[in-house]
Amino acid sequence: MEKKKILEVRDLKKYFPLGKGKLTDDKPCVKAVDGITFDLYEGETLGLVGESGCGKSSLGRTILRLHEPTSGEVLFEGENILTKNKKEMRKLREEMQFIFQDPYSSLNPRMNVFNILSEPLIAHGIYKRGPELDAYIKELMEKCGLPSYYCYRYPHQFSGGQRQRIGIARSLALNPRFIICDEPVSALDVSIQSQIINLMKDMQKEHNISYIFISHDLSVVKHISDRVGVMYLGSMVEIADKDEIYSNPQHPYTKALMSAIPIPDPTRKTQMQVIKGEIPSNVNTPSGCKFHPRCPYAKDVCKTTVPEIKEVKPGHKVQCHFAGEF
Ligand code: SF4
Repeated sequence: MEKKKILEVRDLKKYFPLGKGKLTDDKPCVKAVDGITFDLYEGETLGLVGESGCGKSSLGRTILRLHEPTSGEVLFEGENILTKNKKEMRKLREEMQFIFQDPYSSLNPRMNVFNILSEPLIAHGIYKRGPELDAYIKELMEKCGLPSYYCYRYPHQFSGGQRQRIGIARSLALNPRFIICDEPVSALDVSIQSQIINLMKDMQKEHNISYIFISHDLSVVKHISDRVGVMYLGSMVEIADKDEIYSNPQHPYTKALMSAIPIPDPTRKTQMQVIKGEIPSNVNTPSGCKFHPRCPYAKDVCKTTVPEIKEVKPGHKVQCHFAGEF
């Protein structure tokens, strides 16, 4: 059976002008998201990885219009959400949620858990105050592994893991179809990380939710994702099924990232590939292939010509002139 697309991102760009005033053609700008195209299917998790500053979080925020895009299209169930007005967007936000990295700063310290969870339900007119809302909040808390008798406690009275459970409960309150998770476990201890990931997987199975899971931790991404996209300087340089990209990376940047994953095996034979130099500024991005100043395989054409995206195997796409030749 063919998988149903829930989200289609087409040539999405988000440029931030430097200094005061609006973006113009001659003004320097930060190209945080620079022409990204991909699909997300119902019930799947797409992991997004890359060095900090590569544009992963900006991409997530631009898809949900927390940053207004510069150009491109975002189709949610076939409708371009970038043409929606404020009222229509508000309605759509019931279906599309965000889980933040820092659960503490994303929760209002002056609201107890009951109010944090019930606020979006009341604001969207789904429930009024009363016994039905009370029962729903208690059920939601229990589902997310929080005893319902904690509902009158405040965020500072919870541990980091419990706060992220509150963040997840809040994102699930409106029964969304799609959630962007921006480094949701990177502030947590390793033992708590797996509990939160398992909770997210359980919720996905139960509600058929699609996730975009942003992380710099390749092991966590491997654990939770169905497909993985690798970003570099605002571009998606490679995307493929999880097993394919981890076992057969094609882009030199992905190869270097994958070689750096720690493996508890002293007999490991693969050499770690160190990427030379710092990630360049995304104000004056390198010409041609943006990775060429750091790429061990760069040739003259890489300095002048932007590589096309090639499909080296079904569903495995790579933005490199020599993809499939290494
Ligand atoms: Fe390296 Fe050239 Fe491929 Fe870019 S296009 S990744 S510089 S080989």
